[in-house]
Amino acid sequence: MELVSTHCHSRYCGHGEGEVEAYACAAEEAGLATLAFTEHYPLSGAFDPDGYLSVPEQAMGSYREAVAEAAQRHPSLEVLCGVELDYLGDLEDRALGPAELDGFDVVLGSVHFIDGWAFDDPAQRGRWEEPGAPDAIWRRYGELWCEAAADRSLRFDVMSHPDLAKKFGYYPSFDLGPLYEAMAEAAAAGGRMVEVNTSGGYYACAEMFPAPALLEAFCRAGVPCTVGTDAHVPVNVARDIRKAYGLMARAGYRSVTVPGKGGARRSIALE
Ligand SMILES: [Zn+2]
Ligand SMILES: [Zn+2]
Repeated sequence: MELVSTHCHSRYCGHGEGEVEAYACAAEEAGLATLAFTEHYPLSGAFDPDGYLSVPEQAMGSYREAVAEAAQRHPSLEVLCGVELDYLGDLEDRALGPAELDGFDVVLGSVHFIDGWAFDDPAQRGRWEEPGAPDAIWRRYGELWCEAAADRSLRFDVMSHPDLAKKFGYYPSFDLGPLYEAMAEAAAAGGRMVEVNTSGGYYACAEMFPAPALLEAFCRAGVPCTVGTDAHVPVNVARDIRKAYGLMARAGYRSVTVPGKGGARRSIALE
């Protein structure tokens, strides 16, 4: 069965390690059919003052060249050049039109910021400890995620790590069921795909993104699903992909959908 990962990083963002070429080598060794590089799209100084969260604007050209080179060196591996793009809501301060995004094979849509706060950055996690914080944060996270997923004026091909708010293991006091239904509806309305992101198993939440019940809701809503390891070091490039396929199958999916060049999508049957 073909293995794919449509989400990984590299040394081009401030918190990734390893050359693009090293990820391609590791992917080929692991027998991957497709690997998408999805570096964090540049953020302004207002959101990323230390250049830790995203790729500096001036390095994007080298990033793209490195991915093109890796594709040439590894003809047996389908290499996609993508980006992971933050949804910033009303605080968006970048130009994000076709001129900026059309050159990428895949654009992941991510909510890492709640009204300017990087809620999943370990250096900024203190706010989660304030009284009542998890309820308020989850509510706002859900609103922003649904806005991002449903708005067809934005190019987000795949919504990544859909329930990232659970990363540090903080959950709200309320039942997440209605939010899961709303998220599934929003993703379907926006024509999005979602991903099973295997990195979740290694954070405090100790399970992949999304939770099984949320993945079931996506499946019921007819939202196609891919798999991404979100590797930030080459050794993790193929981590737990088979496990992710198992999670998808248990949620009701019959196939993995893989984004490709020019908006193409292909399917791999789940055995
Ligand atoms: Zn992310
Ligand atoms: Zn990522």
